[in-house]
Amino acid sequence: MARVFNFNAGPAVLPLEVLQEAQVELLDFKSSGMSIMESSHRGKEYDAVHAEAAANFKKLLNCSDDYAVLFIAGGASMQFAMAPMNLLNAGQTADYVNSGAWAGKAVKEAKLIGQVNVAADCAKDIPTRVPSEQELKLTPGAAYVHLTSNETISGAQWKTFPKTEAPLVADMSSDILSRPFDINQFSLIYAGAQKNLGPSGIALVVIRKDLAERASDKIPAILKYTTYIKKNSLYNTPPCFSIYIMMLVSRWLLKQGVATVYQRNVEKAHKIYAAIDAGNFYKGTAVREYRSDMNITFRLPSEALEEQFVKAASQANLKGLKGHRSVGGIRASVYNAFPMEGIDALVIFMQEFEKKNG
Ligand code: PMP
Repeated sequence: MARVFNFNAGPAVLPLEVLQEAQVELLDFKSSGMSIMESSHRGKEYDAVHAEAAANFKKLLNCSDDYAVLFIAGGASMQFAMAPMNLLNAGQTADYVNSGAWAGKAVKEAKLIGQVNVAADCAKDIPTRVPSEQELKLTPGAAYVHLTSNETISGAQWKTFPKTEAPLVADMSSDILSRPFDINQFSLIYAGAQKNLGPSGIALVVIRKDLAERASDKIPAILKYTTYIKKNSLYNTPPCFSIYIMMLVSRWLLKQGVATVYQRNVEKAHKIYAAIDAGNFYKGTAVREYRSDMNITFRLPSEALEEQFVKAASQANLKGLKGHRSVGGIRASVYNAFPMEGIDALVIFMQEFEKKNG
């Protein structure tokens, strides 16, 4: 089997065990004589998958019953719209931290719904970073504060989260369950699944039930958090197969433990950053204290060398290292399921490439 080292930013590498299990169960799920994809979303087979997925994520995130764990189609971009539609009512202001391209998209959507205060703006800073807690200019009585825990494109990550009076909302698309954190600090978190959780096109959403009650009656049912809470994410036909894969990933995560996964993530990121810092050839893109453990961004001395680097790496089975088209450079996305051997292979490749071209 020819599996490559997949540094894609998302959709991204999934645990091999998960793919193998899905393969084994594909044609005949638990002796039902059909695939889970072909099963009724109201049947007992799918019901068990759905319930286990929700229970496992609740456990992984240490959520009390004050929170609901939801599966909502449309990915994180849908949440850019749903969060303000549900939580930002007339006459209120929401504080948004603009730390990069993804936060910027969230700001843009929220502005269509209501009053937005950009509490800090470092989206265009080079080296890239997220703001410090002291920089935030928060609005007294804000409806909520929104931040992006990890900027997938710039490679900057919040290492600790600010304490806010207003409910804290986070887009955790690119680092959810890559490290332990206290869910009680947040009122709403959401994550597009295609990095650490499963297939694209769906978001894991965790919301305080009391916060969801704020939504106006004028919002269509399909866009309201309370609909998903009341109907256990089964108001409409959910993306059953995606939730099934997410369930398998949640099992895989429970088996490892988030603390262990985090330790390994830190070690993985550290190895690549050490290779970047070893000389003057590679230059990290993010401010050191905010360097992401998930998306490691760096530059080479010229764009021509970067192009050559990506091409040669691809020939060496190191795929997906090209930086986002909006910023260029190199990006190594190394989510939970990315194996240590791939990190070691990249480090050796970087050393050899520097020797030849430095
Ligand atoms: N937020 C972040 C931090 C992301 O990285 C992405 C996708 N790369 C999104 C939001 C958008 O996610 P989706 O494509 O699932 O809408």
